[in-house]
Amino acid sequence: MPKVFIAKPVGFCFGVERAIRLAKEGLAKWRRVYTYGELVHNPLVVKELRNLGIKELRNLRDLAAVDDGALVIRAHGCPPNVLLECERLNIRVIDATCPYVQRVQNVAQKLTEEGYQVVVVGERNHPEVKAILAASGKNAEVYPPKRKNRNKKIGIVAQTTIDRNCFRESVANLISLGYNEIRVFDTVCAEAVARQKATMALVKRVDGVIVVGGRNSANTKRLAEIVFRSGKPVVHIVAGEELDVEEWRQFNKVGIVGGASTPAQAVAEIARLLKNFQLPPAEGRKSGEEPLAWRASGGFLQTLSLRPGTIEF
Ligand code: SF4
Repeated sequence: MPKVFIAKPVGFCFGVERAIRLAKEGLAKWRRVYTYGELVHNPLVVKELRNLGIKELRNLRDLAAVDDGALVIRAHGCPPNVLLECERLNIRVIDATCPYVQRVQNVAQKLTEEGYQVVVVGERNHPEVKAILAASGKNAEVYPPKRKNRNKKIGIVAQTTIDRNCFRESVANLISLGYNEIRVFDTVCAEAVARQKATMALVKRVDGVIVVGGRNSANTKRLAEIVFRSGKPVVHIVAGEELDVEEWRQFNKVGIVGGASTPAQAVAEIARLLKNFQLPPAEGRKSGEEPLAWRASGGFLQTLSLRPGTIEF
């Protein structure tokens, strides 16, 4: 059996936990709840919400279906025109935009009002970036900007889950272009950075790393890239059923990292598979009691400490 190391923090970040809680509270109160796109980028979470009866809407046209209940704005936020349309259609809105994501939109809006061209360092097609661009006027661009007018003044912001080193490199490149004026706002989220640092530390201690999280989760992809760049074996999976357990049991030391929208249980399940823990039968457990895998380390997966670290067992 390999020794298993789990990077901390583990489990939902503050913004994801808040979005799920708001959606569930909305369901209890309004009985019919919709989300604008996937609430968070994790199929396990999305499936759980669907099973509870929470429906996803895909675009503005779908808003007409909300004739009752409430619409939840996902953790990544939404373009301002979605909120305007909700107002026009008199739709009740539960805004679960992560406050850190909202802050980027607010900064970008302010920069636009003050005459700066906004440049977003991030993934062009990610909903968070699309929403920032939509809030920043028609001159806003994703890095690298196509229009490099040096007489302009630009304001640089980051997608919350971007690799901080990548953000710094992008800023350095833009500075070297000699713009008239540049304002820089490092809006990378502390949660994302904590997980990136924990992954960098973990990768030095192990023979390979299993990254757990949605394939469309930006912050999870950054963690997989960090391991990939180290040259060590890495696999990015959503859940334990995708893992080649026998292959990973060949290693002496295996690291596991989870994204900000990855349930702690999904991480625990990987550890359980590698260590060959037997879960006690459901009927042998008291109601609400955690399975053996995460009781084994004293309930470690409940720990949502922001301080990066490693859990060994
Ligand atoms: S990773 Fe950061 S910005 Fe994204 S939802 Fe979590 S706390 Fe918010």
